Amino acid sequence: MLRYFFFLLPLFCVATVVGQPTFRWPLEGTLGKDFFVVNYVDHDTANGLLRDNHCGVQTYDGHQGTDIALRSFRQMDSGVTVVAAAPGRVFGVVDTAFDRNKISVIARGFGNWIGIAHPGGIYTYYAHIRRGSAMVNVGDSVEAGTPIALVGSAGNSTDPHLHFEVWNDSAIIDPFAGPCNSVGSFWINQPEYDTTFGVIGHGLLGWVPTLDTLREYPSQPKTFSPAADTAVTFWIHEYGVRAGDTSRIEWRRSTGELWYEWTFAHDAGYRYYYWWSYIALPPAGDWQVRYFLNNQLVASDSFSVNGLSPVAQPPIAETNVKYNASSKHVTVQLPEAAGIPVRLQLFDVAGSHIGTAQAETDAAGVAQIRLDSWDIPHGLYAVQIVAGSKQLGCVISY
Ligand SMILES: [Zn+2]
Repeated sequence: MLRYFFFLLPLFCVATVVGQPTFRWPLEGTLGKDFFVVNYVDHDTANGLLRDNHCGVQTYDGHQGTDIALRSFRQMDSGVTVVAAAPGRVFGVVDTAFDRNKISVIARGFGNWIGIAHPGGIYTYYAHIRRGSAMVNVGDSVEAGTPIALVGSAGNSTDPHLHFEVWNDSAIIDPFAGPCNSVGSFWINQPEYDTTFGVIGHGLLGWVPTLDTLREYPSQPKTFSPAADTAVTFWIHEYGVRAGDTSRIEWRRSTGELWYEWTFAHDAGYRYYYWWSYIALPPAGDWQVRYFLNNQLVASDSFSVNGLSPVAQPPIAETNVKYNASSKHVTVQLPEAAGIPVRLQLFDVAGSHIGTAQAETDAAGVAQIRLDSWDIPHGLYAVQIVAGSKQLGCVISY
């Protein structure tokens, strides 16, 4: 379970101005489908306190702009166009920085950006754009809607997003009208303040990911096999998770029988959030994983686990495996030869992975695997043994 924020510079002050220009949305696409408002301007200048334009907390401490996040890096690669919010003249273009950052480094700042000066002493910044994507030059005149760049993840950015920042001659402006913003709306059509929950994406993996790999939306297998996979991970990318929300995940056989269930209570709210949970590879068959938020089903995936293939994975004969319950040694006898790696994985009955032990066969084709180093309660455990291209699954009494 992980979570993160976007970070930028500390807030100086929030302007009170009259006579706004009108802005169109600075991205091509549909809000709530192609991208999501993740953070607004922080109006609370006190350190550590948050207040967005609607007196909520959809911001982070000192945030000076509006963060509009794409669904994924894949979508970023497809090219999402940033457009000028209003007519004006380009005064700054930087697009030479690396554009696939996934961690927050405050010193990286905007990374790449375009600045436009508008009549009336208003300035807009379009930050974190893709390297080499600038479509305008300093001095160019633009209209509202003129394409100027592509969304990226340059600078201080963890995910592909546009940081849209507005200034007058001396202070930050939050262009969204709200009960906690003294400035009226700058938008021709101000999008509704959104506190809803939604699912951006979800899927399965045959291994345990890191947050970085999830950010790339890896390919999503629906079939797993003991030869290739050690775990089944369910991951979900959400927006609008609130403090106090409860996530619950159920792993079931396709017949409905519960295999494993886990509940997690969120201690804080997150506008843009990755969550994942995994189990050791369950037995062959058809399976379903269901994800609930506050007991409402919001996502599910079905998958199959293959049995052992007699061609690619000839089973080890059970008579060739001996377990000594007092010494906690597993002896594997293989006819092949010396030097064959034998790997044993231990799971509890809930499917949780306890550990891995291994040994090599000696000249007689015998491998001795010691299981006495695990501090686990007595009981039944599942083992999976892989020796060269062969394998065996069985249950032992530890
Ligand atoms: Zn930002």
